[in-house]
Amino acid sequence: MTDLPLTGGCLCGGVRFEIAAPLESASYCHCTRCQRRSGTAASANARVAPGSFRLVSGEELVREFRLEDGWAKCFCSVCGSQLWSRDPETDARSVRLGAFDRDPGVRPAWRQFVAYAAPWEAIPEDGLPRHDERPTG
Ligand SMILES: [Zn+2]
Ligand SMILES: [Zn+2]
Repeated sequence: MTDLPLTGGCLCGGVRFEIAAPLESASYCHCTRCQRRSGTAASANARVAPGSFRLVSGEELVREFRLEDGWAKCFCSVCGSQLWSRDPETDARSVRLGAFDRDPGVRPAWRQFVAYAAPWEAIPEDGLPRHDERPTG
């Protein structure tokens, strides 16, 4: 088992967070937005249990970028690290797996938006379910 709270932060160390409950799920997102914001072929993200996230330091450094129809993409304004996304309506969060200090205790269980996968990197043959868009149900 992974010790709680889970901890993590950005590259420069200015932003630090804690998560007090086990992560609910994790997945890889191959959508075009994730490719752009991360500079990679896919982004690994974990869904946070409601109310378990706490920003420990660096609130003033966190910036949000939001397209009209999506969750806010939150990042450190000093070092540019991608940290989490946030639903402006419900405050639900999805944290980038690369932001955790240690094993986050979950493993990505599916791949989504593979219809938009980067042409320059093959999707790994890892046996995970692949969804062309967001998984339904
Ligand atoms: Zn930073
Ligand atoms: Zn995405």
